[in-house]
Amino acid sequence: MTSYAAPTKDMQFILHEMLNVSASDTPGYSELEPDFTSAVLEEAGKLATNVLAPLNTVGDREGCTFENGVVRTPAGFKDAFTQLKAGGWMGLDLDPDYGGQGMPYVLGTSVGEIFVSSNMAFNIYSGLTHGAYSAIHAHASDQLKAIYLPNMVSGNWTGTMNLTESHCGTDLGLMRTKAEPQDDGTFGVTGQKIFISAGDHDLSENVIHLVLARIPGGPEGIKGVSLFIVPKFLVNDDGSIGARNGVSVGSIEEKMGIHGNATCVMNYDGATGYLIGEEHKGMRAMFTMMNEARHGVGMQGYAQAEAAYQNAVIYAKDRLQGRDVTGVKNPDGPADPLIVHPDIRRSLMDQKSFIEGARAFTFWGASLIDQVKDSGDRDAEGLVSLLMPVIKGFQTDKGFEMAVQAQQVFGGHGYIEEHGMSQFVRDARIAQIYEGANGVQALDLVGRKLAADGGKPVMAFFELVKAFIKENEGNKALNAHFLAPLKSASKDLQTAAMYFMENGMKNPNHALAGSYDFMHLFGHVCLGLMWARMGKSAMVALENGATDTEFYETKIATGRYYMARQLPATKMHLARIESGADPVMSLAADSF
Ligand SMILES: Cc1cc2nc3c(=O)[nH]c(=O)nc-3n(C[C@H](O)[C@H](O)[C@H](O)COP(=O)(O)OP(=O)(O)OC[C@H]3O[C@@H](n4cnc5c(N)ncnc54)[C@H](O)[C@@H]3O)c2cc1C
Repeated sequence: MTSYAAPTKDMQFILHEMLNVSASDTPGYSELEPDFTSAVLEEAGKLATNVLAPLNTVGDREGCTFENGVVRTPAGFKDAFTQLKAGGWMGLDLDPDYGGQGMPYVLGTSVGEIFVSSNMAFNIYSGLTHGAYSAIHAHASDQLKAIYLPNMVSGNWTGTMNLTESHCGTDLGLMRTKAEPQDDGTFGVTGQKIFISAGDHDLSENVIHLVLARIPGGPEGIKGVSLFIVPKFLVNDDGSIGARNGVSVGSIEEKMGIHGNATCVMNYDGATGYLIGEEHKGMRAMFTMMNEARHGVGMQGYAQAEAAYQNAVIYAKDRLQGRDVTGVKNPDGPADPLIVHPDIRRSLMDQKSFIEGARAFTFWGASLIDQVKDSGDRDAEGLVSLLMPVIKGFQTDKGFEMAVQAQQVFGGHGYIEEHGMSQFVRDARIAQIYEGANGVQALDLVGRKLAADGGKPVMAFFELVKAFIKENEGNKALNAHFLAPLKSASKDLQTAAMYFMENGMKNPNHALAGSYDFMHLFGHVCLGLMWARMGKSAMVALENGATDTEFYETKIATGRYYMARQLPATKMHLARIESGADPVMSLAADSF
């Protein structure tokens, strides 16, 4: 059985010392006083530790069932969902006009991490509702918003996203599902969607599907796709639940992880759909929520690593194997605990330094999303769009790697199911695939985001790093251990971007073959920047006489580890990028 405790102290440090949220002029941030955020995070932590985490293994072992057309979630999920709703957690950062609490997204993200770490499969039901809510909120008519949003904010109705079809995943232009206009202004939606997370279940009264489909006669490819609300049950004029709509579950998937979340084949058979936004502009509506969705999946990556790491630490302190070569640490026992060994320390430091860096990066990303939402700040929008494929791709790859490292701390006991470490690895794996596979995130980053707006966002990022270094160069300790390595890593990133500019025009494969390395190089520089900022905040706290010296000293030591042991990976990624497309493309397809 695994355990989980919310890392609220670290979250508070990032919110209040690194980001200094309550001093920010972003609307809603002045309410985020430390006492308030602490109370919210502690409450979320209680629900996570006492209710959600104990259900994590149950969900994994029992999975969802599909019988006589009905999907059921594992034992305990329904009750936990009732508690989630009753606590108002579903609407924490949603619009008060529809019953939400209107808190900033950065707070929603902090709470989201706690829930995802404790039970990722369970959290997907509410996470997708949040995503569907955002698309409806941004693009649907006031009438549709009034019908659907209050029930989604309360959690009485949940949401889904229906993009994928059996022959079309990444390449959505191949989509076949059709939406025929009806005389009453609605559309008849027909087709099959696969892999639909939370597609059906027993947690809510209604399931609101957001479905991408083609209106016949529209443009070919991706430009001819529109977005529709297709509810499981139609809604009567008085807002009550009406007749069953023409949508049903064909089957649910057997899969590697997230067993507690139902992944459904959805059959649409002339189901009544309501257009959201303009005809053929469905992808535009989807893009609105894509940044948030990628951000949320990037958070899943390190949130799973956090849960796995916490259990690895407990095990490493408890399991007795071998002796400390520098001197016995447990003379009364037959051996010393695993944690004395440098290689176990390396593994735990890899995990800890990644997780805390990724948390800072994710919270910073959330604060940029808040800035865009409330002010329409174009510069922040450019940065969000540039950074989201990095948050999604880099953090889910590393999150999986760190979950594997945590499992490795258990040796063979991590591989068997008894200790629950295998579940973290299996659950973390999907985050590298859905919401756009990570290879496609890298393509998006290099193919679209680097050159977007004449390269303004990426230049703004480099300026941001440069300005931070310049501003703090006078701080000797920060300079030696944080700023110097950051400067060098940032230079590697600029050299790589330059390589693409010079060589990508001649042969696009030179850019595409290096795109995955570029995404990782970028991720390391971002975490390097976060560690430099956190290192500075910790040093300031110590200078100001903070009493919790252990916390701040640990923070600085963990940051120094990242800068010394992880950040040099930028050199390897740059060397790979500069080797160009030739080594990658040297074999003919028939030679494989
Ligand atoms: C458990 C689970 C839950 C899911 N939930 C949902 C959901 O709720 N809603 C939904 O709509 N979908 C969902 N999906 C689908 C998911 O988003 C897709 O599986 C994913 O986007 C990849 O599509 P695909 O599987 O068709 O792979 P493909 O598109 O066939 O890609 C296969 C591989 O090729 C690579 N690739 C593809 N095109 C290119 C290219 N041009 N250049 C280089 N590499 C390329 C990809 O990176 C990938 O590694 C879910 C999937 C799973 C397994």
